[in-house]
Amino acid sequence: EFQAAPEQFFPTDPTEASACLGGMAACNASGARSYAYGPMRPHVTGLHVALADGDLLELHRGRAHADARRLSLVTAGGRALELDLPGYTMPKTKNASGYFVSDDMDAIDLFIGACGTLGVITELEIALQAAPSVVWGVSCFFDSEDKAVSFTDSVRPVLSHAAAIEYFDAGALDILRRQREQSTAFASLPALDDEAKVCVYVELDCDDEAQATEELYHLGWVLELAGGRDDATWVARTEVDRECQRFFRHAVPESVNMLIDERRRTDPTITKLGSDMSVPNTRLADVVALYRRTLAESGLESAAWGHIGNNHLHVNILPRDAQDYRAGGELFARWAAEVTAMGGAVSAEHGVGKIKAGFLETMYGHEAMVESARLKLQLDPAGQLGRGNLFSEKLLDELVQKGGA
Ligand SMILES: Cc1cc2nc3c(=O)[nH]c(=O)nc-3n(C[C@H](O)[C@H](O)[C@H](O)COP(=O)(O)OP(=O)(O)OC[C@H]3O[C@@H](n4cnc5c(N)ncnc54)[C@H](O)[C@@H]3O)c2cc1C
Repeated sequence: EFQAAPEQFFPTDPTEASACLGGMAACNASGARSYAYGPMRPHVTGLHVALADGDLLELHRGRAHADARRLSLVTAGGRALELDLPGYTMPKTKNASGYFVSDDMDAIDLFIGACGTLGVITELEIALQAAPSVVWGVSCFFDSEDKAVSFTDSVRPVLSHAAAIEYFDAGALDILRRQREQSTAFASLPALDDEAKVCVYVELDCDDEAQATEELYHLGWVLELAGGRDDATWVARTEVDRECQRFFRHAVPESVNMLIDERRRTDPTITKLGSDMSVPNTRLADVVALYRRTLAESGLESAAWGHIGNNHLHVNILPRDAQDYRAGGELFARWAAEVTAMGGAVSAEHGVGKIKAGFLETMYGHEAMVESARLKLQLDPAGQLGRGNLFSEKLLDELVQKGGA
């Protein structure tokens, strides 16, 4: 009897539709579904990396491992590389901060999330996986942030098939309310009543409808205990309804980008300031309290959304002028130190790039930056690739002048 192969899908969905696979691997991108499926890293099974001198590394998951923190590789050109990996310990949270290093690690993992500093990914092999048969989206509304946090903490251990647990705070929902009223492009957004202060969106990826119904029952039970509003919950079971929810979720970052573009007409020096920090499960309430307290003290305008299931919110400061912009940057630096003290990561999915290089030093310390830069210079002796990403150009240049790695 003929049986169709199950539909396959690639779970990584970093929101930005123009993202390329190479860029996604370079940043170890994630997105909402990383709650269930992890970031880009586990889905990458093979990489070809062009090194600064044009030689090539051909890496396949499972074929080359470090010996503790020493990694021996042979290039396609037959050159033996002996790499000393930095000695730091990564936090046990969602993390895209700096080089991935651990004892006896798979060689391929070093090049995923390296922000283009070690080589250029020229070929990439990914493993697809069986697509879920039933996908339901559930938007839950609460009249306070405390209730949303408590719901998240309680629902995580109860659900077995949650693919995403996402959050929209009061600032984010207010932006949507305004957009719906003021812009025809957003007129089809669903109306929100005044009591809907914050929202937690849960996506259920299930084998069949019976399983999805059981999960929904568990979710409803936790919702009631956490003081959520059962009557105000949206459950999207069809593709049309899910598309409506997707529009709702994607409208938030899009609207914030539009708002900042408008403000930049008055002051072109300001840009959006979006945080990307994560903490362990036990510190979710603490980090949300930190954000609220310090935002209130600073008087800055903000909207927060993102991956609350991973304790990973994008808090966006919406600067009105250059002074707000500076204050927002200072606040992020303070959060980087506090999040590090909580055992978290300064970048959980966007990668450190250039703007967050200082936060990486806060997280791992100066010696770790020197070790990381030395590792880079073993592969890229003149420090040409991804200059300014992860560590300062000054540090790199000093090491090059001292003779490199
Ligand atoms: C509106 C919006 C929403 C987003 N939401 C999310 C989200 O939810 N989750 C998430 O994880 N990310 C999110 N992102 C970030 C997004 O994931 C990254 O922008 C994207 O994955 C990077 O891919 P890219 O092709 O755009 O890379 P680029 O932006 O072109 O490059 C990113 C970095 O990777 C390096 N790089 C690019 N290609 C290669 C290559 N072939 N070899 C080596 N290095 C390379 C570049 O040098 C650069 O340092 C969002 C971005 C936007 C604009």
